Amino acid sequence: MSTAPEEILARLRPTWAEVDLVVFGSNVSEVRRRIPKESKLAVVLKADAYGHGAVELAPVALKNGASMIAVALLEEALELRRSGIDTELLVLGPLNSPQLKLAAEHDVIVGIIGPTQLEEAARANIPLTIHLKLDTGMGRMGLTEPDLAPAAAILKGHSRLKLAAIYTHYANASHAGDPLTEKQRSRFRSMRQTLSSMGVSAPVHHSANSPATLRGLVEPGDYARVGMAIYGGEVFDEGGGRLNPVMRWRTELARIKELPPGSGVGYGHTFTTRRLSRIATLPVGYADGYSRLLSNRGEVLLRGRRAPVVGNISMDLVTVDVTDVADAAVGDEVVLMGTQGGEEVSAEELATKTSTLAYEVFCRISARVPRVYVSSGQRNVKSRFLDRS
Ligand SMILES: *Cc1c(COP(=O)(O)O)cnc(C)c1O
Repeated sequence: MSTAPEEILARLRPTWAEVDLVVFGSNVSEVRRRIPKESKLAVVLKADAYGHGAVELAPVALKNGASMIAVALLEEALELRRSGIDTELLVLGPLNSPQLKLAAEHDVIVGIIGPTQLEEAARANIPLTIHLKLDTGMGRMGLTEPDLAPAAAILKGHSRLKLAAIYTHYANASHAGDPLTEKQRSRFRSMRQTLSSMGVSAPVHHSANSPATLRGLVEPGDYARVGMAIYGGEVFDEGGGRLNPVMRWRTELARIKELPPGSGVGYGHTFTTRRLSRIATLPVGYADGYSRLLSNRGEVLLRGRRAPVVGNISMDLVTVDVTDVADAAVGDEVVLMGTQGGEEVSAEELATKTSTLAYEVFCRISARVPRVYVSSGQRNVKSRFLDRS
């Protein structure tokens, strides 16, 4: 990099998401340590690595024990290929027929999510590596029991289709002791037996997402298929399933004004000061993924303390009441998500306050927000506003 990161950041709005590559790497190796040693780790980097940046995280994951990368879209897989990733890449799909050829050309493994897709893959008549998805109870994608016999016939009749793995997906693994998980495990076993009795089997199986993996449900030799855990989000409904958060979202205090009691703040005047107040403005809004549902509900960190969001969140601006943070000053760092001092606003807290999951909180941090990659003292800025040449 020719320009120093400090210089680049000085030219941008001071709102960015820091992504700690060292923490990410150690989360990946921690997950690797927790699965059986005969098993392999597939990291799920779909949706731009849950908003963290797939191109930047992929090499770090591979260096720390990941053997395969799974994404949702073919476009996501091709982006990784272009960036030089030559590891096994699985697209979870669904893919349409014209995409199959592209997948084959770029050595991308195709997740087969139903009988129609299997027929299309066979009809394409190209050498294609596939993973076959079974629906063991998710009710979303995958072959059901009646699909197995016709699928076996196709697989045996088309030698250009290489069945490299059979997989399934858990619906309720985040919920401790949910009986569905055990039911899905045994159904996965019995559906594989049915296929095997028809002469179809695969060298590898995978089923465990983050919660299933951290609950120790990866069978020796199976792959684990892990997303959220490596980003440091909570993966158990009951708590206790969180590695270290990788992302920290911060901005800086842009303006402080003193308002007399009885002053309305923001669109709709949904907040009125009750005392002489110091109201601060932050250069971030719902266009950046800071949900409007946090209006009059969210809290931010300032000088290691919590300050409440007051008034409605605008597209580009947020107002917070800093009356009780007497030393607050323009230019102070404000943390929207992550830690400051001993305090934390977790992705889970933001999720609870906006009736969603930390998964969505991460994915919603928009492309307008630069990602700053931090690794052992070094920083690397990625923004769609920067000339990448
Ligand atoms: C997203 C996804 C995962 C990863 O789930 P996490 O809960 O983030 O670990 C695994 N498998 C499939 C099929 C997925 O779609």
